[in-house]
Amino acid sequence: MPTGAMQDFIREETESILAACTKCGKCFEACPMTRYSPALAGAEPKAVVTGILALLREEGNGPEALGWASVCVRSGSCVPACPDGVNPKMMMRIARITASGGLGGPKRIAARHDRDYFDRIRAFAKLQLTDEEIRDWM
Ligand code: SF4
Repeated sequence: MPTGAMQDFIREETESILAACTKCGKCFEACPMTRYSPALAGAEPKAVVTGILALLREEGNGPEALGWASVCVRSGSCVPACPDGVNPKMMMRIARITASGGLGGPKRIAARHDRDYFDRIRAFAKLQLTDEEIRDWM
């Protein structure tokens, strides 16, 4: 589980995303990966994002949100799509960490790409990184 500066960073980013996101769904519409999750067939973008925000609050377990988190490959296609200054790539990164059990909750998706990630979290937790450095790395 992330500790110290990383945990603070994730918490602050989560609060900022929850405060700013209007659930318009444009990030979901821009994502090139949604076709690869069966759970997302016919999904309504606003509903999927609502599920992602619930996941970030540890209040949701919806199959569509978990489906999107599962297929996210951090393409960044969502970033320019957001009209409200949110970084959807960060939103999805935190959603994926949450759904993988990386913040202490239950593991709801396979963390196939995250073994190195958690090793690096442990290493980074020992370093004194600025928020900007953590943001670049995330
Ligand atoms: S992150 Fe941005 S684009 Fe995505 S639903 Fe929220 S406001 Fe819309």
